[in-house]
Amino acid sequence: MAKVYNWQIKSEVPYPYEHKRPQKQFAVVMDLNKCIACQTCTVACKTTWTPGRGQEYQLWNNVETKPNGFYPLGWDVHLMEVLGENQKWEGDRYAGKTVLDGTETEQVAGWMPDDLDWINPNIGEDEVNEPVDIGTVLEKFPHPIWMFYLPRICNHCTYPACVAACPRQAIYKRQEDGIVLIDPERCEGYQECVKACPYKKSMFNYVARISQKCIGCFPRVEQGLQPQCVITCIGKIRLMGFINPPEKADRKNPIDFLVHIKKVALPLYPQTGLEPNVYYIPPINVPLDFLKQMFGPGAKHAVETYIKMREGREPELQALLHLFGSTDRIVRSFALSAGEVIGFDEKGVEIVRVPLVEPFQIRPHKDEKLGVVRQDIP
Ligand code: SF4
Ligand code: SF4
Repeated sequence: MAKVYNWQIKSEVPYPYEHKRPQKQFAVVMDLNKCIACQTCTVACKTTWTPGRGQEYQLWNNVETKPNGFYPLGWDVHLMEVLGENQKWEGDRYAGKTVLDGTETEQVAGWMPDDLDWINPNIGEDEVNEPVDIGTVLEKFPHPIWMFYLPRICNHCTYPACVAACPRQAIYKRQEDGIVLIDPERCEGYQECVKACPYKKSMFNYVARISQKCIGCFPRVEQGLQPQCVITCIGKIRLMGFINPPEKADRKNPIDFLVHIKKVALPLYPQTGLEPNVYYIPPINVPLDFLKQMFGPGAKHAVETYIKMREGREPELQALLHLFGSTDRIVRSFALSAGEVIGFDEKGVEIVRVPLVEPFQIRPHKDEKLGVVRQDIP
């Protein structure tokens, strides 16, 4: 058993394979303050990749309401049970057990959802954390009533539990971009990956009798394009790119800037030990205890930084957020220039330019040229 270093928890974790970091690592940042649960991402993914027989209940991208929504049912409640009392942070270092520490009999500590756990992806939608009396007025912010939407895809983990658990070595992580794929020819449908993945993002196809999962839209990524769920996002909450490990963080790389420099985007349940590569800007309306359990000890700093940004005290961060949803191309670096934020591709060629303030025009009440009066202008 190899020992591999996980920078998210500043600890080594046991892993069945020697690890070599990929040349590039696929990563997505999602700003949870902006998701409106429109499910456009879910539908875009569904119609692109999982319209087939046996995939009826597969949502490689799903959006659930926290704290009462789950897909599959109770997935993170079960994760907390699996990790149990063994979760222990010492400052920003995780000193507890991860799922990769396994059990007496298994490589990965996991649990297997029942078939019916997958059939209510919108359970708990829009439910707040506790009952609210009719007529309640919430005046102060933050207030005790809260919920938020959590969009989820496969995390294309640096140390994937699905890879560790597969007895057929049918799952692999691509060296060129870190995307994790299942080889349908090698998969025999044992579902060890379904049981092992703590995020429950490997799913069984009961017709094809194999496991299937999010493929990171690799045919798009190979062409320098961001995935379907990212570019269709109505709320413009997502940005896909490539992340470096912290010692190689590049300030001009948008993902590195958000994760390593500003530390405003955090991994989901880093205590799994897998080094998941979808990073979330936590919602600022949610109690810190909940956020710390879900995103680790960096939650307080992330929320404070985001609030500063909203107050205009983080102009570079504010500018970068304008690039979310601004282009279908993968932005490899960014820069600010005279009231605009500019995105560049891997060759340093400009691919997008967004003004930081939306230009607007005031039209005269009476248009002399057309000889008309506009009724909708005061
Ligand atoms: S999220 Fe799950 S399915 Fe995706 S790479 Fe990680 S362990 Fe594998
Ligand atoms: S498309 Fe964007 S805003 Fe809509 S549910 Fe998906 S992540 Fe949220």
